[in-house]
Amino acid sequence: MKKIFIVLVVLVFYSTSVVAVEKYKFKYNLHENLPEKWVTEFKNIMNIVQEVMPINENTNHWVKNHIKLMNMLRGHTMDIYAWKSTKNPFPEKRANMRGSTLENTNSSEPWMQLDIYPQDWTSSRNRIRTYSVIVHEYFHVYQRSLSKSERALSDINPKWLVEGGAKVLEEIYTRQYYKKDLLKADIKETKRWSIKKVTKEPHLYEKHKTSPKKNGFDSMYTGSAFMLLALVNELKKNNISEEEAFELVLREFWIQRGKNDWPTAFKDTFGMSHNEFYERLSKYKRKDLKKILPSKKLKIQDIFS
Ligand SMILES: [Zn+2]
Repeated sequence: MKKIFIVLVVLVFYSTSVVAVEKYKFKYNLHENLPEKWVTEFKNIMNIVQEVMPINENTNHWVKNHIKLMNMLRGHTMDIYAWKSTKNPFPEKRANMRGSTLENTNSSEPWMQLDIYPQDWTSSRNRIRTYSVIVHEYFHVYQRSLSKSERALSDINPKWLVEGGAKVLEEIYTRQYYKKDLLKADIKETKRWSIKKVTKEPHLYEKHKTSPKKNGFDSMYTGSAFMLLALVNELKKNNISEEEAFELVLREFWIQRGKNDWPTAFKDTFGMSHNEFYERLSKYKRKDLKKILPSKKLKIQDIFS
């Protein structure tokens, strides 16, 4: 009996150590000047996005090796720095960090930084943006992981797919968790983007450098978001559900991108070349926006599960 018990204990111990999946581990470096409420919400959001869009050793081989190496070298995979707009928040990391972004992206050791502006706390809409930016930047880490990239994403992928994806995901998230619709208001502001540029010269949105700046500046990535939603709309015409269409755009494309150049990944994922899509996009009008916004009932869990 005793022997059996020992064997069982050994088996249980062995099996739990085998099934433990090594995760992409974030280290939170949160400045003491951040409001407590923000910190609580930050942790909550990070838990949700990591559960819905997990990054771990099962993601792919590249991620597995990256996690193992980074966790061995420093005990975590990626740093996140967050502060409420202050001078030189983390001088030990880099002097005068500014803005919310993924930094050092042309390397294997990027970090996430979140620069929270105090004025954003004065309006409920902008306060939500201080939260949705967490979803946005996490999604960039997800895109990098799926596509096995050690380069700045928009240098080697269409910027409108990189940023339009992050922007639309933010929108779906804020709708679901805060009952607020941010994108519609952004897209309605004509000064933010130009329907003419988006539909007639979409290739300009493939690069940050060429994205229209005057009379159609891709402010808040509004033009990119419109393009991404038009792509989802075109996919739905092929009898694909909304959830599946978003899954193709927000996940499958990035998995394919890990295997091929972007035009090939595009064709393999969406069943049309990017030029065919641009041709279809040329028929869109500003008023089509209402028809292509994500439906109100859509949940991020429906897309990624
Ligand atoms: Zn971004």
